[in-house]
This record gives sequence, structure tokens and C-alpha cells, in this order.
Amino acid sequence: MKEIPLSVPHLNGNELEYVKECLDTNWVSSAGKYVDKFENDLSEYTGSKNAVATVNGTAAIHTALKILGVEAGDKVLVPALTFIASVNPVAYCGATPIFVDSELDTYNMDPAKLEEKIKELRKKDQKPKAVIVVHLFGQPAKIKEIAEICDKYDVYLIEDATESLGSKYNEQMTGTFGDIGCFSFNGNKLITTGGGGMLVTDNNQWAEKARYLTTQAKDDAVQFIHNEVGYNYRLTNIQAAMGVAQLEQIDEFIEKKREINNFYYENLNLLDGITVTRELDNVYSNYWLSTILVDENEFGMDSKSLYKKLRNEGIMVRPFFKPINEMPMYIDNSFSGENTKKLWEEGICLPSSVNIKREEMVYIIESIKNII
Ligand SMILES: *Cc1c(COP(=O)(O)O)cnc(C)c1O
Repeated sequence: MKEIPLSVPHLNGNELEYVKECLDTNWVSSAGKYVDKFENDLSEYTGSKNAVATVNGTAAIHTALKILGVEAGDKVLVPALTFIASVNPVAYCGATPIFVDSELDTYNMDPAKLEEKIKELRKKDQKPKAVIVVHLFGQPAKIKEIAEICDKYDVYLIEDATESLGSKYNEQMTGTFGDIGCFSFNGNKLITTGGGGMLVTDNNQWAEKARYLTTQAKDDAVQFIHNEVGYNYRLTNIQAAMGVAQLEQIDEFIEKKREINNFYYENLNLLDGITVTRELDNVYSNYWLSTILVDENEFGMDSKSLYKKLRNEGIMVRPFFKPINEMPMYIDNSFSGENTKKLWEEGICLPSSVNIKREEMVYIIESIKNII
């Protein structure tokens, strides 16, 4: 059997037709009908008033921080357990990330620990400027509680919803609870444009500012007058064309991801020492990646050894993200994230492509059973 990938694109819709139209009409760059259509379609899908397309999710997060006025010396609260791109944009602004521990049921930022951290900072007269919350692997964070805490302490809230497009909390789409939400259409995400991103907000002025900052901050396009440092962060029409075609299929994709999780759950959760991640009662997860936790004592092997064995069998599993506070540019010895550490030690992401075959999942399950 050939290698089973972690998560690869599924391009069986109108992608080719729409991209061909861009090439045929010569609208290949950052203007054109598909950029507008992709923005409108995504704003309708998420229920957010405005959507602004960007070159990738990292650029969307960077732009969000700039719009909210995050600058050198500011503090931004972030989860320690996330992909590096949630945190790097804080450094781009010259601000400092402050790490918050995760909870064990959603793997996301713990609201109680967030509040504790804000109080601790305020005692030292350091009011944080913003919180970036991540909905890791598609599982919604306790976003309503987090939004209330941000309101209470007057801190901006950015949602890194790059992995959770289509996931809902109390029937509301993730990405629409905070001041600004960010999405990614990288190759391994739920829907892809090759590379791409989107920023959503209900605030019209911020949306306008996002359009301005992502197109070189042009104040007069004819005379080349710029009054601020801008960025070349606009998505191209070709990529947006792909995005429109991908978004047409999103319900199908999520249904498939949920079936994949169910299958893993039914077959793996009964094994000693393995817990398959499941959504909480009040949420609807897109299950972008299905994940498991491996309890070394009960399973008889730690997750890192299991991960290596599965890799050797051609199964592209992946450990959870290494905690950011352990990386040299963000090292923070004062941070003691017990849950972050446990999740990093125990977590494995399983192959979860929309187009994964039933026999491939059976092979993965059998491989894990054989290792036992
Ligand atoms: C993918 C991802 C990003 C960044 O998106 P890109 O489009 O790759 O720049 C940010 N945060 C998280 C958690 C991600 O998974």
C-alpha cells in the first residue's frame, strides 16, 4: 500500500473550470470577480458582515493585529499549544506573546487560566492588548466564555480559526465571536486555494482598513501616495477561483471528516490507553484532523514511539504541535503549562483526508492493534 497522507486536497469540483476562466479572460492577479465572489461567499457562509481575502492565514492574523493597533511593547495572550503561525505575527508587530495553558477537553486556551493571567498582568500594571484564541484541529474553544472575559477586561479578541472553518459553538460559526476572525486555505486545510487566507469582521471600518493595509496602503493609486506602511497581502483571482469552487463543496467535506472521526472512534476508543478526541455537547466540529491521546501506562508505549512505528508502516501520523514556549525565540521558563505539556506528550494526529479510503483507515486501525 502506498503512503497514507495526513491531510491532502480534494479537487473534484469546479476548480479547473473557474481557474481556466481566469486564464482565458486574463484576470490572473489580485483584482477580478472571483476575489469579490470568494469574499462574499465566505462572509455569507460564516455569517460575518465583512470578509477580506489575504495571501495566507498568517497574513490575515498579522493584518488583524495591525488593525487593532498592536505595536512594539504590547502584550498579546496566546495558547502555548498551537502552530507557530498563531504566534509569529505577534513578533512581527514587535509585541510579546504571553502563553496560556490549554484545557484537556478541547485542547484549547483555558478560559479560567486566561482570566488568571490577565489579572496577574493587571496587578503589575500591564494591560494586555489582545487575545488570540485558536480552535485547534477544528475543535471549538470555549469561545463564549473567552469573549466575555475579553469584554470584561477590555481586551481585543482575535480568533485563529484557520483550522476550524465550518465548526460551530452554540450554532454560531467559529471566527465570528471575536473582534476579528482569521481563516487559512493552505494545502492541508479543510478547503484550499493552494495558499490563501481570509479575515472576517462585523466592523466595517476594520474591514476597510484591512483592504487598505493588504494592498500597500494606497491613498492615491494613480499618484502613488502612501501614508502608512502597507503590505502586499492580497489573494489573487486564480486562487480565489479555486476557493469559490472549494467552498461549494464544504458541507460534503465536513460530513466526510465527521464520518472519519466516527470510524476512528468506534474502532480505537475501546483500546486501553487510547482516547479519540470528540466534540463537546454544545459544539459542531469540522473534525479537520482526527486526533488521539495515548496514555503511556495503559497503552504500554508512549505516543512518540507509537508515532514512529506508524510512520515506518507508511502512515503519515503527526505529533501535536511542540509547545511554543519551548522554542528558542519564545522561550519562557516562567510558564508552567501542565496540560500543554501533557497534550504534547500524548497527542497524535491521524490521517484525515476527505478522500481517505475505508481500507486505508482499516489498515491504520489494524496497524495500531498489531503494535499492541
Ligand atoms: C495553518 C495555520 C495558520 C496559518 O495559515 P497559513 O495559511 O498557512 O499561513 C495559523 N494558525 C494555525 C493554527 C494554523 O493551523
